[in-house]
Amino acid sequence: MSKALTIGKIYKEITGDKVVFSSQIDFGNQTQTLWYRLDAEYSDYFCDDRGDGLVASLLFFSLMNGADIVSTLPISEKLYYQLTYNLIPQLCRCNKSVISPIKIEAPLVSTGYPKASGVGCGISCGVDSFTTLYEYTRLVPLDSFKLTHLTYLKVGAHDGQIGKYDKEVQEGLFQSQLSHVKAFCTRYGYKLIVMESNLTEIIDRMFGFYNYEQFHSYVNAGTVLQLQKLFNRYYYSPGWCLDEFFVDVKKDAAHYERVLLPMLSTETTSFYSSNQAMSRIEKVRLISDFEQSYEWLLVCWLHKPNCGKCGKCIRTMLELDIIGKLELYRACFDLDEYFKKRDKYLRRIVQRRERDYFMKELYDYAIAHDIALPSPEHKNIVNRVFDSLRQRGVRQTLSIALQRLMRREL
Ligand SMILES: [Zn+2]
Repeated sequence: MSKALTIGKIYKEITGDKVVFSSQIDFGNQTQTLWYRLDAEYSDYFCDDRGDGLVASLLFFSLMNGADIVSTLPISEKLYYQLTYNLIPQLCRCNKSVISPIKIEAPLVSTGYPKASGVGCGISCGVDSFTTLYEYTRLVPLDSFKLTHLTYLKVGAHDGQIGKYDKEVQEGLFQSQLSHVKAFCTRYGYKLIVMESNLTEIIDRMFGFYNYEQFHSYVNAGTVLQLQKLFNRYYYSPGWCLDEFFVDVKKDAAHYERVLLPMLSTETTSFYSSNQAMSRIEKVRLISDFEQSYEWLLVCWLHKPNCGKCGKCIRTMLELDIIGKLELYRACFDLDEYFKKRDKYLRRIVQRRERDYFMKELYDYAIAHDIALPSPEHKNIVNRVFDSLRQRGVRQTLSIALQRLMRREL
């Protein structure tokens, strides 16, 4: 007998200035209550009358666990068609040894929400979201494609930052980054919708831990579909361009997002990848023209403000340094500390370019723009002795070292 994941009706409860929507999810012998919480002022936009968002959010896990989806709530006909006739067969074909086709059972509804006219994207104040924000407030030439609302969703990004599900750490990161995002939106007058959920807690209990990068596109799009009464268009900032396209459910879903996102669209809400075909360095160049990013860029996975020491912080400072715009971000990073180790960081670009996509991009940019990089070989005394041993042998190396010692060269 095949397993099934069952999605129950959605119930609404208002507590103070918040509204909570909850639904019972059954899988195997487990029953969990999945909830979403948002400010009561946005409660009329929450779709409690159809299960599109829940199906989209749970689709990845149903596939990985071979479970059919049974939804008590109706789902949009367009979404049903796209998932069952296109996406699921294609995903299975590309991942034959990992997943096999599942069924979706639900009443269907072919009408959309005609009043939905909002245009949204997520905001984390990182490079990707600032690129999308700049692009769709200033650069896009079509008014109906310009942003009206920004979202900040708690559906797993904070677990992805630490590589495991940890309720307390997730909450701490969420609150810390939320305060930054809220302050930014207040400063520049953006409408911000904050949606919290226990989605990843439920996922972790029911299916075990999955790396966030495997499923982020599904759960973010799914959560936005819960707000279909608001959103007519929604942009998702891509991690990869189409030249890095491949379909592997064990890897970052961003690699096949440009196929996945349209398949998660409905009669009402259309998803688009933003940032056209920009590489990471092109995005950094773009936002360096966006003055709103100068004091608010937040890239650090683990700290607010930016720690300046983790891989993400150093990579971003290197990117800004290489394009000559790092000084604009003095409010975001401790640049004095960076400049103390600048040579070492620049050397990393050369040393790691063969194995690190982003270092390769920086290296190619530097070469193309005649930017000098330090030699990759920075040898301390131990390295020099080992090199000498390799080249000359033990006796000659010891002899040279002895002579140098006597001349105090060593
Ligand atoms: Zn950091």
